[in-house]
Formats: sequence, C-alpha cells, structure tokens
Amino acid sequence: MHRERVSENVFWFQSEIYAQVTAGVVAGPQWAVVIDTLALPDETLSIREFIEHELNVPVRYVIDTHYHADHAWGNCFFPGATVIAHVNCRDLLLERGVPSLDGSQKQNPALRQVKIVLPHITFSDGELTLRVGKKNLIISPTLGHSPDGIAVLVEEDRIFFAGDSFMPLPYIVDGDIDEIMSSIKRVGRMGLENIVQGHGDIILRGEIDAAVKENLNYLAAIKKAVRAASRRKNAIELLDDITIESCGKSRVYLGGLAQTLHQRNLRALLQQMTTEK
Ligand SMILES: [Zn+2]
Repeated sequence: MHRERVSENVFWFQSEIYAQVTAGVVAGPQWAVVIDTLALPDETLSIREFIEHELNVPVRYVIDTHYHADHAWGNCFFPGATVIAHVNCRDLLLERGVPSLDGSQKQNPALRQVKIVLPHITFSDGELTLRVGKKNLIISPTLGHSPDGIAVLVEEDRIFFAGDSFMPLPYIVDGDIDEIMSSIKRVGRMGLENIVQGHGDIILRGEIDAAVKENLNYLAAIKKAVRAASRRKNAIELLDDITIESCGKSRVYLGGLAQTLHQRNLRALLQQMTTEK
C-alpha cells in the first residue's frame, strides 16, 4: 500500500492489491477521521496501525463516500468509531452489501473477518461539517457513480476527497450519467488544490482543468456513441466497436481495468436508454 502526506495532518493511502482504490485520514490532536476503508482487511488494518502508532490518536469517525465493498466494508476494523454516510448508503449496505458479503466470503477467505457496519449518522442533502483539530471537513452529496455518493472537502487546504464521483475513468454502472456530469462540473469550479480520486492518483492543481475536461468529454462521447448504436437492431454488438480510445481515454488506466469498466459503462448506458424509451 502506498502512503503519502498530502498536507499537514492529511494523509492518503492507495491499494496495491485492488484497482488503485484510495482512502484518506485527517488527524487532529485528540482523534482522527478516516475517509473510506480499502478493499481488503490487511490494508485497512495497516491504515489503523499507522494512525494509532505513528500519529498516536484513535479513530473517532469513519466517513464512507459510498456503499461499495472497496470503500465501506472496512468499517468493522474501526470498532468504536462513528460511521458517517449518505442515508442511501445505509439502505444499500443493508439491501445489497450484506448478501454480497455473504457470497464473497465463500470465495475469498481473506474476507472472513469482515462484518458490515451500518452508518450511525446519515444525511441526504445539504452539508455536514466536522471540525478536526484546526481543519473543517465539509461533507456533501456527490452523486452519479452511485445513488449514495458523498465527498469531503478539507476546507483550509482545498483538498477534495471525491470518492468515486471522480476517477481516471468515470464509472456509471450503478449511477447516472447526467448526475455524474454535474458532479464533475461542480468539482471543476471549486478552486481546489488537490482532488483525491476514489481510485488512481491524486490530481494536482495544475492538472485539474484537463482532468475535468477529459472526464466530461469521455461521458459525452459514450453518450453520443451509445445513442447512435441504440437506433440500430444489433445495438449490443455495435458496442464492441466503441473503443475506449475513441472516447478519449486510455486502456492502461486503473491497472488495465479501464477497458472492462468502459465496456460495462456502454452496456449500462444502452440499457438505460432503451428502458427510457
Ligand atoms: Zn470504488
């Protein structure tokens, strides 16, 4: 697992095992806040180890940016912490997380110690502010990747933990393309120092405009291509010909996972467009 100090008392972690998924920590003098937990227990536990033994504080809050396994299944490794999330995150963890964990545990023994811990504090719109030492964390809904996305702005540092609303390749299979486009546009207007993406590397100030544009162009491109395909009889076969490169992205993103995610995006979008009709 990679670890980096982003600014004073703000840390970033990136998995070396699963899809470059990321997590964050903001520490105060008495306690720390964890933003997302990683996919596998060993990595999550080493984040806790770092906080308790290097920063010498306990974890008081865990913020789940959304309910997906690689972000929220590590809640159980911070016993005693209060979990904060979108109200839909609580429902989705219960409806989908619990049965999905059951299935995953049969296949992956590493997940045996995992238990779903449901969020204790939830909200659905507006903002929630959490003061950690000298820093204000502003938590707000950022939908589009999933129906329960939230993001965390470290106000003083202009560091934005975007969850999966911002990724090297936007992923909309469990979300909504128009919602994610407006989330990405909003991020572009925020005057940020860093975007911490839910997967992939940190985006620096000078790279933000280009990253925002690339993601919006990609989404516009797949929308256009899938709409054109949807007018044909063999629409589903035509999707194979819509390459990731023709939509302005590279297949090397996310450790090579990008191509698979791209094809799933196209299928999900076609499904949405044909059921809308
Ligand atoms: Zn994710």
